Order: sequence, then C-alpha cells, then structure tokens
Amino acid sequence: MTKILNIARQQCANWDVGRCIGCVFNRNNDKLSISISSKLSGKQCIVEEGCDYFESVVIPGIADNNMRESAKLSRKL
Ligand code: SF4
Repeated sequence: MTKILNIARQQCANWDVGRCIGCVFNRNNDKLSISISSKLSGKQCIVEEGCDYFESVVIPGIADNNMRESAKLSRKL
C-alpha cells in the first residue's frame, strides 16, 4: 500500500476496505449539504490519482502535522 493510500485509509471517513462510500460535503450559496457522489461511491479509492474531496476536506482536517504535510507533498499541494 502506498503512503497516500495508507493516509486515506487512516483519515478519510469515506474509506471502506479500499472502496469509497462517496459521502461528500457541498457548499452552495453559503449552505452546506451532504450528498453521495456517484463518481466515488462503491468504487476503489482514487486518492493516488487525485481526489478533490481528500485534498479539499480531508487533508486540512488531519490533526497530525507530519501526516498532513506528507499528504500535501504526496499530492503536490
Ligand atoms: S476516493 Fe477520496 S473520498 Fe473516497 S475514500 Fe478515497 S480519499 Fe476518501
């Protein structure tokens, strides 16, 4: 397992034994909603190719500084 996949396994609430639940937050006109992404739901985790949700929601919420910076480096953020 690659490092970024391992970080997703540990930190992403959508991780389900390597597959993605696909529950994502959306903000429209200052309102927050939750939806199931048909692009992600039930499919293999795509964090290695680039996952917008991981990069915009999961990484900023990683409490451990070293792990957060490692995730950013892995995704070239
Ligand atoms: S595809 Fe993205 S949202 Fe889904 S489990 Fe992987 S990192 Fe999380």
